[in-house]
Order: sequence, then C-alpha cells, then structure tokens
Amino acid sequence: LFGLALNVSFSLLRLRNYHSKVELTRLAFQDSLTGLNNRRMFTQRAQQMHGAAHGGMLYFLMIDIDDFKIINDQQGHDAGDEVLVRTAAIIADKAQGHLCGRLGGEEFGIVYAGSREEARAFAGGLVEAVSQAFHATQFVSISVGVAELDRSKELSHSYRLADEALYLAKRQGKNRYVFAG
Ligand code: GH3
Ligand code: MG
Ligand code: MG
Repeated sequence: LFGLALNVSFSLLRLRNYHSKVELTRLAFQDSLTGLNNRRMFTQRAQQMHGAAHGGMLYFLMIDIDDFKIINDQQGHDAGDEVLVRTAAIIADKAQGHLCGRLGGEEFGIVYAGSREEARAFAGGLVEAVSQAFHATQFVSISVGVAELDRSKELSHSYRLADEALYLAKRQGKNRYVFAG
C-alpha cells in the first residue's frame, strides 16, 4: 500500500512538472496580452522561413497602430490594451496560414507567403479591416510597411526596408500601406 501511495505521488509530481514545463514554454514564446507569437518566436520562425532553400515568395509586413499614444492618453492604459487585443485578433484572423506576431508595444509583424499582387491585396485588406472593425465605437487604424523577403540578403535587410516603408505610410497620412521599392 505504501509503495502504491509512493508511486501515485511520484506520478502526480511528474505530471505537475510536465505542466510547469508546458506553461514555461508558452510564456517564453507567446505574448501574454494578445496570445500572438512574441518577438523572439516570430523572429526565430521568420529566420527559418528565410533560410529555407525552397519555397515561393515571402513578404514581410511591419504593422503599427496609428496614434496609439493618443488612445492611451485619452482613454487610459486598459482601453489601450483592449485595442491591442482586438487589433491582434484581426491580424491573427486575417493572417491565418501565415506567420504573425507582436514585435513589441503597438507593433506587429507578418511573413506573408504569396505573390506580390497577393501581398498587396492582403495589406490593403488588413488596413481596411482594422479601420472597419473599430468604426462604431472609435476610430482605430494601422499603417503597414511591406517588403519582399530577399533570401539572398540578411533578414535584417528586409526588416529595414519594411520599416522604411512603414515610415513613409505614416508620413503620407497613416491608415494605409506602402510597398518598399
Ligand atoms: P504613430 O501614429 O506615429 O505610430 O504614433 P503612436 O502614438 O502610435 O506611437 P508612439 O510610439 O508615440 O506611442 C506608442 C505608445 O504605445 C506609447 C506606449 O506607452 C504605448 N504602449 C506600448 N506598449 C503598450 C501596452 O502594452 N499597452 C498599452 N496600453 N500601451 C502600450
Ligand atoms: Mg510604434
Ligand atoms: Mg504607433
């Protein structure tokens, strides 16, 4: 009977240990607010896709919520968090089958697999979807910079191009996407 009790205790301990490990892994790779991949996981997967010898065209989308500081200042940090969660949900929904993640703050990234025309339509659809989703309660929009993921160059090169395109989208009035090049 003692042996059995010991056996059960050890099994329970092992199970708890297993659950802790699963939880730790989740915390290490998932953004706790939005549930999306965190920056670390996103970058790791993007590197893998970028390094793969085969595969079609990839596009990197750098997404930033417009005037997010104003939302925070006017409606409070909790309301800001809510906007982040809802925006992340739209991104995750639209980007199904593609890699997406929260890069930090109010910035998100997507690696879109498809043709240039498809990437263009996708970026436009995403901008439209966010501005529509919040329309009833308030106005929330995103700006997006899109760059081809050039496999012959470092991943950071495409990141920089997407970031520059995002900067242009902001300068041109926000609530839009700009394609690099
Ligand atoms: P722009 O249109 O040029 O992107 O302006 P912006 O106001 O969106 O950009 P800015 O970088 O000035 O402000 C980003 C704000 O995001 C500032 C920061 O306090 C807020 N922020 C970052 N992370 C979080 C978060 O997790 N929750 C909330 N509520 N706010 C956050
Ligand atoms: Mg930003
Ligand atoms: Mg912003």
